[in-house]
Amino acid sequence: MPTTVAQLAIRENVPLADHTTLQLGGNARLFVLCTSLETLRSALAYARRRKLRLHILGGGSNTVFSDRGFNGLVVKVGIRGTSFQDTGNRTHVTCGAGEEWDDLVRSCVERGLAGIECLSGIPGSVGATPIQNVGAYGQEVSETLVSVRALDVRSLELVEFGGGECGFRYRESRFKMRDAGRYAIVEVTLSLAPGGVPDVRYAELKRYLESRAFPEGTPEALRSIRSAVLHLRRKKAMVIDPRDPDSRSAGSFFVNPVLKREEFLKIERRWRRTGSDEPIVHFPATGDLLKIPAAWLVEHAGFRKGYRKGGVGISSHHALALVNYGGTTRELLALARDIERAVRETFGVRLVREPVLVKY
Ligand code: NAP
Repeated sequence: MPTTVAQLAIRENVPLADHTTLQLGGNARLFVLCTSLETLRSALAYARRRKLRLHILGGGSNTVFSDRGFNGLVVKVGIRGTSFQDTGNRTHVTCGAGEEWDDLVRSCVERGLAGIECLSGIPGSVGATPIQNVGAYGQEVSETLVSVRALDVRSLELVEFGGGECGFRYRESRFKMRDAGRYAIVEVTLSLAPGGVPDVRYAELKRYLESRAFPEGTPEALRSIRSAVLHLRRKKAMVIDPRDPDSRSAGSFFVNPVLKREEFLKIERRWRRTGSDEPIVHFPATGDLLKIPAAWLVEHAGFRKGYRKGGVGISSHHALALVNYGGTTRELLALARDIERAVRETFGVRLVREPVLVKY
């Protein structure tokens, strides 16, 4: 395969802080932006030939780089383009991995295509959404995903996975678990409902919409869901906004724990022993499982919104967002460890981190 450095426009010593929403991290030894399948394949081949460590980057909204940077090649997937295909009662939307997820949501809402409107305002690229099966306000990307196309980092072959082959679970997929680092996602196809009626399942969203006159037709109804979700997310500083220092984060830093009923009862008994009679907030999850908001655990373990330590802290709008106020990755991870310890000591719960931590 022809691969020249010039063709790939590989840059040296590129500050990674410019490529993450946390704005943290040292320099990438090598960095390349790939806007086509061919250049992406060449970049992967280049890394393999030179035995370079490789990190595939999307929008950088869920990535924490070390203060030392990355001693290898960072490949940013910038493959663009969106196409819409009418298949009768559905529309298949095929989108390049490098498109901004929220641009895709906005254009689908404007076309009256239902299925991802509750996923408005989520930062990051389209290609990143299947990796952690992004979900919010009652919708998950796995519900509408038809297929994912990806380059196998080992064989450099283009492979395709149907939705059922992606191993989707709550904020999880094969790309995050057993196949972590194996595939570079290049394209995602979703199946959306033209003229679809929004299905509002989430209590917080329902409450907000009930207080307003809800329009009947599509896309008006979809637009109104989108602006409601954007409003709720903005209130929690969960929409990237350069004017809002609380949004300099990687969104939720911890996954909401999903537990068996026996585990939940054990946690409840431990919580009672602290002398509190406040009930633990929880929701039913799939099957017999229960979900506890991680933000509730963080706050009740003593870490309040607005907490600051050095150059990092907890967002004053949301206890799950760890924010960079001009600090370092080292400080951020120390804060994460303090929170994890407090939650473990108070509740016996081991929090799982959501962002990907990339070692030097
Ligand atoms: P929130 O709305 O206060 O919810 C916190 C937790 O409570 C979540 O586990 C949520 O479940 C659950 N919950 C709240 N109301 C529920 C209901 N009516 N039925 C079932 N479960 C309910 O939390 P937030 O942090 O501000 O997040 C808002 C939404 O954005 C949530 O859906 C959250 O999952 C999502 N989010 C997703 C990501 C991601 O995919 N990476 C990152 C940040 C936030 P669910 O998680 O199942 O919604």
